[in-house]
Amino acid sequence: MKIKLARDILKANDQLADGFRRRLGELGVLSVNLIGSPGSGKTSLLERTLENLGGLRAAVIEGDIATALDAERIERKGAPAVQVNTEGACHLDANMVIDAAEELDLARLDLLFVENVGNLVCPAGWDLGEDLKVVVASVTEGDEKPRKYPAIFERAAACVLNKVDLLPHVDFDLERFKRDAGVLNPDMTVMLLSAKEGTGVPEWVDWLKTKLAEKRSR
Ligand code: MG
Ligand code: ZN
Repeated sequence: MKIKLARDILKANDQLADGFRRRLGELGVLSVNLIGSPGSGKTSLLERTLENLGGLRAAVIEGDIATALDAERIERKGAPAVQVNTEGACHLDANMVIDAAEELDLARLDLLFVENVGNLVCPAGWDLGEDLKVVVASVTEGDEKPRKYPAIFERAAACVLNKVDLLPHVDFDLERFKRDAGVLNPDMTVMLLSAKEGTGVPEWVDWLKTKLAEKRSR
């Protein structure tokens, strides 16, 4: 009997991810791995983003345990989308993303978004070849997310706090959230946003454009 150690699997994943990142680098494509709980608004954020990208070309790889609902939402915004069904797995891995990317014309893209399976735990540990991880949280989930799920907050380049239009209606200590997030990761940009109302979307899109320009100037 051969026992495959989890760390061997992770190592193989990281090698695949590095190769994919190199390929995206040669093509000048910025890749963003969106990680958040189910219902935090990852797909809604992407819909808003696609509406506001101006001339930039983006595609989305959608990770879900089942269904193609999210990819259908993305395609309605006019962007290419590939749905990956993990058939029960709670995160995407580099192999799934590389396979899905076969369906896309990467050379024609500026941005590649990967919407991970709704989960704040193990997606933090799986490199998908992205340039940036972005954690999506929402005010309806409570302000304790950074304390309860530190790994993703430590590794994210940005945190989008969604549904801020609901702040007056929920018990959410915004200062506490920002303070806890800042302690875990002082370099992380925290953006307040409402995908529903569009608040904060221009700042988010500007942040993406800045990261794309930085990548291409390297
Ligand atoms: Mg979604
Ligand atoms: Zn998982």
